[in-house]
Amino acid sequence: MSERSLFWFRRDLRLADNPALLAALDEGKDCLAIFVMDLEIAERSGPYRRAYLADSLRRLDESLGGRLAVINGRAHEVIPRVVKDYGITSIHAAKSFTRYGLTDEAALAAAGVEIEYTGSSYAVAPGRVRKPDGTNYRVYTPFWRAWMTHGWRAPVAAPKNPNFVAPKKGDREFPDWASPVGSALQEAGESAALARFAHFLKAGVDRYDQDRNSPGIAGTSRLSPHLRWGEIHPRTILAKLNQSSAHEVYRKEIAWREFYADVLHHYPHTDHDYYAPQFKAMRYDQPGAKFEAWCNGKTGYPIVDAAMRQLVAEGWMHNRTRMVVASFLVKDLHIEWQHGADFFMKYLIDNDVASNAHGWQWTAGCGTDASPYYRVFNPIEQGKRFDPEGGYIRKYVPELAHLQAPDIHEPWSVLDGYSNGYCERIVDHAAERLESLARLEEIKVAKELPPTNRA
Ligand SMILES: Cc1cc2nc3c(=O)[nH]c(=O)nc-3n(C[C@H](O)[C@H](O)[C@H](O)COP(=O)(O)OP(=O)(O)OC[C@H]3O[C@@H](n4cnc5c(N)ncnc54)[C@H](O)[C@@H]3O)c2cc1C
Repeated sequence: MSERSLFWFRRDLRLADNPALLAALDEGKDCLAIFVMDLEIAERSGPYRRAYLADSLRRLDESLGGRLAVINGRAHEVIPRVVKDYGITSIHAAKSFTRYGLTDEAALAAAGVEIEYTGSSYAVAPGRVRKPDGTNYRVYTPFWRAWMTHGWRAPVAAPKNPNFVAPKKGDREFPDWASPVGSALQEAGESAALARFAHFLKAGVDRYDQDRNSPGIAGTSRLSPHLRWGEIHPRTILAKLNQSSAHEVYRKEIAWREFYADVLHHYPHTDHDYYAPQFKAMRYDQPGAKFEAWCNGKTGYPIVDAAMRQLVAEGWMHNRTRMVVASFLVKDLHIEWQHGADFFMKYLIDNDVASNAHGWQWTAGCGTDASPYYRVFNPIEQGKRFDPEGGYIRKYVPELAHLQAPDIHEPWSVLDGYSNGYCERIVDHAAERLESLARLEEIKVAKELPPTNRA
């Protein structure tokens, strides 16, 4: 019998550009491919997240010729058992950089399981890009420059004629999570990721710099769920971008993902704690009825409600509106960012600890490169500016579909604004903005946070 390796699929549910998988198949080894399903996490996830993962696993299984093992449990319980059952002699995986993934790796090491880690979900692994004095970057633009100078490897091809071991029947515990009836869940899997990227290269990226801020049009790549589950690697994306300014803007967004992963690597507590600790002392309100209204898309502010309903209906939200609803939760409702971040993590199919926690902290004014706290997004102006015709609002808030722009952004200003049952505003934005600035004064954050690179 030839040597048997084990490949542990984690956040890399693809065959192409997967150096860790190539290492597992090196020298023609027979390879058992497994995914370890933590049902506790799945239970905490929203229906879209579960359905997306189930779909992605099914598609990965198809590309492995029906030979993917899916086993319920935690890695440190499942992997040692599998090693024994299948006579495995080497184990391969990509490195994780999240608290959860690192806990798995530590538990496996403590159980005496040796794993060869190759690569990560990033073009440049977190921790690699350093200042000349060896310290880490805390501001995006210098990180971006150093990241570009550091560079990354070229993508590698998918394995040729791999020998995957057929798992035992009991080791194919595929979940049957389906997306809710009538939902518009984005298609999962490596082929879908590559097809979406090819389409974006042809029809989207050259206009990305102009279109990326409009939630009502398909102006962004929507590759985030594919990147989150590793159905495409950022190297594959970066390798196709040219030097034009539109491509550069897109490359910079990929770099934000890498920057936040780097920041989280250096400050692991910031997945749930304040990056700028002075904001911990701020006076916040407890989440109650207003938080519920925010979650349910019933704040009475059309752009906020459209976005929150998009999140719950599709498991995804546009970046512009992520910022708008985050600002609204923290600065209009005075609720700590972690409550919103947890809600996002539950529903987003692209839920990513680093981008989520730091996207929230950036908007809340307490993160790296943060938008200054006193910059409070005006939900009415944001709607008028980024959804000028109101198409985005009309799509997700049918109670307002009878209104034209600009009225749709201010239903309280027209006679028939509430005729289809739209909810009244739960707060007065102008008053809450002042309240939020007053609370800022209380913690006397006298010095301004570093200037922002984001608009
Ligand atoms: C409050 C808040 C929470 C967020 N939570 C997440 C999250 O859980 N998961 C996640 O992937 N992104 C998160 N983001 C970042 C961003 O909103 C999404 O990456 C983006 O909307 C995904 O859509 P897209 O793939 O069409 O992006 P595109 O505009 O096409 O960008 C391409 C890729 O670049 C990366 N990217 C783009 N913008 C950002 C950004 N601001 N920060 C980090 N990476 C970025 C993503 O990987 C994205 O897929 C969050 C942003 C905010 C403000």
